[in-house]
Amino acid sequence: MTATPPITQDVLTLPRKLPDAGRRNLVGLTRAQMATALAGIGTPERQIKMRVGQIWQWIYHWGVQDFDAMTNLAKAYRAQLADAFVIERPKIVTRQISEDGTRKYLLRITGGHEVEAVYIPEESRGTLCISSQVGCTLTCSFCHTGTQKLVRNLTAAEIVGQVLVARDDLGEWPQPGAPKDETRLVSNVVLMGMGEPLYNFDNVRDAMKVVMDGEGLSISRRRITLSTSGVVPEIARTAQEIGCLLAVSFHATTDEVRDKLVPINRRWNIKALLDALREYPRLSNSERITFEYVMLDGVNDSDADARRLVKLIAGIPAKINLIPFNEWPGAPYRRSSWERIESFADIVHKAGYASPIRTPRGEDIMAACGQLKSATERGRKSRAEIAAEAGA
Ligand code: SAH
Ligand code: SF4
Repeated sequence: MTATPPITQDVLTLPRKLPDAGRRNLVGLTRAQMATALAGIGTPERQIKMRVGQIWQWIYHWGVQDFDAMTNLAKAYRAQLADAFVIERPKIVTRQISEDGTRKYLLRITGGHEVEAVYIPEESRGTLCISSQVGCTLTCSFCHTGTQKLVRNLTAAEIVGQVLVARDDLGEWPQPGAPKDETRLVSNVVLMGMGEPLYNFDNVRDAMKVVMDGEGLSISRRRITLSTSGVVPEIARTAQEIGCLLAVSFHATTDEVRDKLVPINRRWNIKALLDALREYPRLSNSERITFEYVMLDGVNDSDADARRLVKLIAGIPAKINLIPFNEWPGAPYRRSSWERIESFADIVHKAGYASPIRTPRGEDIMAACGQLKSATERGRKSRAEIAAEAGA
């Protein structure tokens, strides 16, 4: 991690008031939930499907935030909607832009909690990394988020809201009448921010249904990747009910080491995890699973580890993403040397697997993998607690 100050940091929208408690947020509702909400304000039964379609397009295709802009609805109905509902997203507290163009947003949600989302522009795509929880109940010893004590699940609205906020900030909503622009700034979504998405399954699923819907944000299931530390019982459901691509935080090749790095391994060990993963491509009708492997100096990065890894995953269509460890203050590990990472990658590659080494993005603004942690979060674990959990 470099100590370079961020290139820009600006305070954009200071939250002035909390969402009106009496009015329900339409963001994040599934179509069925929105239909029920509209029925609740007396929308005639035979109109509901059409109204859901219209409102859906306004919110998710045009990005409007105000019922008054919904010009194909009668004025009186718009007023009725505004009395009962809001179209709310999380508020941007700060936005930092890295030297490499990565944008990190600190977002405030109901209750004053904060989460982070990161936009990573690349030549052929733009990836938005979103959070699923405030903090994380798991305590992977190399992960900054895992040191944050306070945890709550994000609602579906708060998960979808991160995509809306990024599109607002990037100015990506289509302009009425303008020619259709097929280039997408936010073309891909990864659930790799703060939190364990499979510990918040229902909200993550509902949010992804909204994000995938073809009449709105329309990001296809093959452009969404959910990363899990290995919540085995939810993996088959992810295939069946979401159908997105799957990444798994593998990080070790023996239960002894994985128990320390990814403590959920004590509940579901490597064998149980691999059994669930073997079923995933068939159940989700998708191709490869991404194995994430963080390179920790002297801990999990030997040639023997690389050979064990390819043996373990034999038969699973896979890509191995090698992640140079991103340091954070007080972290009990160091990043493996470049030569070590290359030697590891070489063994994996020769065994027939793609083994890209993930270039750390946005390091100068602590936006890289595993560096996310809301800055204002007070309840921190001590260094001693972190070290104890790491078994150091
Ligand atoms: N909870 C989920 C998703 C969020 S973490 C999960 O664990 O999969 C996203 C990825 O970043 C995971 O692979 C995680 O293991 C990795 N990661 C966490 N801390 C890191 C760090 N300090 N350096 C590099 N990668 C890290
Ligand atoms: Fe949670 Fe993932 Fe970090 Fe582990 S790596 S503590 S599961 S966010």
